[in-house]
Amino acid sequence: AKKERLDKILSNLGYGTRKEIKGKIKAGLVKVEGKIIKDSSLKVNPGDSLIEFNNKEIDYRKYIYLLMNKPQGVISATDDNYHKTVIDLIDNEFKAFEPFPVGRLDKDTEGLLLLTNDGKLAHNLLSPKKHIDKKYYVEVKGELTSKDEIAFKDGIDIGEKDITLPADLQIISSGKISTGYVTIREGKFHQVKRMFKELGKEVVYLKRVSMGELLLDPNLRLGEYRELTTKELEKLN
Ligand code: URA
Repeated sequence: AKKERLDKILSNLGYGTRKEIKGKIKAGLVKVEGKIIKDSSLKVNPGDSLIEFNNKEIDYRKYIYLLMNKPQGVISATDDNYHKTVIDLIDNEFKAFEPFPVGRLDKDTEGLLLLTNDGKLAHNLLSPKKHIDKKYYVEVKGELTSKDEIAFKDGIDIGEKDITLPADLQIISSGKISTGYVTIREGKFHQVKRMFKELGKEVVYLKRVSMGELLLDPNLRLGEYRELTTKELEKLN
């Protein structure tokens, strides 16, 4: 890590705006190596120095990992001119880490979305070679039969270079609106919807319930999120 101004370090970590931080530093709320520092422009190496804010050691972490239950109506991007994004749902404390969504869920898709600023982990999870399972709860118009299950297993031509990789369809109920779980191992644009469309069925509700070993937390209401536990993070690495 390189040396940075004290006020910049603290604002980057979400302790307030640069202006607010300058005030707090002047007021003597910040210590470096146990000594009160009143000069905001002091350059320190945050990795090497003990910095305290209000007598509490600062939370200097490089990476954060958030598990969100994405609601409908927000897009899986970091910024957008017209629509609310998943980042808009996150507190400043976490926003300061500049997290981004790992992969995308459609605007009208709900469920598990991982957000992090750990590019390496994101890359690994998204790598087409890794074939990480992504499981969705789905509701479609029309009946689902064993024919559909077989089609998902065999692979479906959705207009890409190759047919889709073997996927699982687990029918829960079949009727005018049918329900089930779908597990795919790749992540083409609108993939689940396009697979059903080829089988003549329209997806009317889609929710991701897991990604690899990571499960959607039933305690998270739509739009809520929490940090991953150490255990969850270990499983992803
Ligand atoms: N497949 C889709 O069609 N949409 C999603 O949001 C995710 C997978």
